[in-house]
Order: sequence, then C-alpha cells, then structure tokens
Amino acid sequence: MQDCIFCRIVKGEIPCHIVYENRHIIAFLDINPMTEGHTLVVSKAHIESFSDSSIDIASKIAEGSVTVAGALKKALKPEGFNYFINEGKLAGQLVMHLHMHVVPRYGGDDVKFEAGRVELDDEEMKAIAKRISKEI
Ligand code: AMP
Repeated sequence: MQDCIFCRIVKGEIPCHIVYENRHIIAFLDINPMTEGHTLVVSKAHIESFSDSSIDIASKIAEGSVTVAGALKKALKPEGFNYFINEGKLAGQLVMHLHMHVVPRYGGDDVKFEAGRVELDDEEMKAIAKRISKEI
C-alpha cells in the first residue's frame, strides 16, 4: 500500500535497522523502543490484522519471532521477553500493517503491562466458551 509506512520500509523507501529478513517477513528495530533490542517482525505482504491473516502468514510471523528472539538472547542476554500484537485502534494498533513486537526484558527496565480483570462466574464462562467454540 502506497501510504503504509511498513510497506515503504519493505520496499526500501524508508531506512530502518534490519536484523533479519526472508521472503515472507522483515524484522527491524522499533524506532521508539520499549527496551534495547525491541524488534518488530513484519509481514512483507500488506495485511492489516493478525485475525485476518492466513495460517501460513501467521506461521511465518511466529517463525520469524522465534528466530529473532534466539538472536536477541545470544546478543543482548535478556532475562525474558514479551511478544505481542496490537490489533485495532482500540487495542493500540498505530500502524495498520501486521507486526509482532518482540520485546526483550531486563531487570529494572520500565515496561509495565497492567490490566484490570472482569469478574465472571462459572455459568458466564461456560456460555462464553460455548459461543466461541460454536464459531470454530
Ligand atoms: P503498534 O502500536 O503495535 O501499531 O506499533 C507500531 C510500532 O511501530 C510503534 O512501536 C512504533 O514505535 C513503530 N514504528 C513506527 N514507525 C516506525 C519506523 N519508521 N521504523 C521503526 N519502527 C517504527
């Protein structure tokens, strides 16, 4: 897509710090990193969301993320990782082109994932599980 920033990176029109690429994905450092080594694993094809992607593309994103995480482990010795995909504006997706965040974690870093929890009783959980599983 012409005005998509990640499509422009894929085409080489915008510079970035590439750590890995293959036919399906490109992985580069996030320009505004949460921690040292924060990497984005991006599909080369313009797909907006994970839930709309094919199993094949989703697998390529997963495979790329594992590859990058392995390299980050050796290079930067993090103590852990967060992997996440934001999907939809409400969920914080800023760039509407599928990408996985691979965030290496270090003791004392300033990353926080905090969320409230909803309270559901067993009957409600059962009904929700039924509604979801019916659609699979
Ligand atoms: P999201 O909120 O999941 O859509 O995340 C988009 C991410 O892309 C943010 O963490 C940005 O810092 C990052 N980003 C935006 N533009 C660039 C760029 N030109 N090069 C590298 N990372 C970028």
